[in-house]
Amino acid sequence: MKFDIKNVVKNIANGLFPPRCRGCGAIGEYLCDRCKKYISGNMKTHAITENAKMFDTKYLGYRDEILGEIIEEAKYESVRGLISEIAEIVYNGYFKGMQASDSGKIIIVPMPTNRQHVRERSMDHMDLIAQEIERLSYGKVQKKRLLVRAKDTVQVGAKEAVRRKQAKEAVKLNPRFLDSEGMIVKEWSEKHVVLIDDVWTTGASMLEAGKILKDANVKDLVLLTITKSRARRSPTLRHGEIY
Ligand SMILES: [Zn+2]
Repeated sequence: MKFDIKNVVKNIANGLFPPRCRGCGAIGEYLCDRCKKYISGNMKTHAITENAKMFDTKYLGYRDEILGEIIEEAKYESVRGLISEIAEIVYNGYFKGMQASDSGKIIIVPMPTNRQHVRERSMDHMDLIAQEIERLSYGKVQKKRLLVRAKDTVQVGAKEAVRRKQAKEAVKLNPRFLDSEGMIVKEWSEKHVVLIDDVWTTGASMLEAGKILKDANVKDLVLLTITKSRARRSPTLRHGEIY
């Protein structure tokens, strides 16, 4: 594990002093109820057609807004106290409105994180967020790791074509959930499947992972990213995009 003095100091400081709301500065919580409610109520939807496959995609906010800042802090500075705040926002923004009759019909699939990053941060933030959403739902939503990491390539700064190639090779189906034909077993493929990731930049990771799930028989799929970059020239964002 990488020893990062900044994180150590930060975590000690967080233990000694009460946290401040990242939204309005109120003392006592990482994010106060008012700020959380405001962010949860902002779910945005856009539809993307990718190789004639329609993807239903949703996001809660933009990367350069408060939610994006919180995710960066949770992820890069390993601030665990922010994980449950993020999970609560996502739960309230997307899952809470679901009916009791939907119970057991919804699964949440965390996007697998680069294993080297998990080691460096000593946590898998997406897995923790998905786990917390499962807990908040009282079993209505089940976390299932249908995808696992295949190859740990780093896509930061890479060009679009390279990113797509890396994204395609980055994840694969989890053999635990497959039948003899390599398809996801019906028990799970017939659920409402929500693939979740933290940031939509060009969409390469989500779209490639979404294709893998669709090709393995998942029909009811939502690609849910917590935040989205305001990228303007991304070729994957031409359809139904609203600014
Ligand atoms: Zn606040």
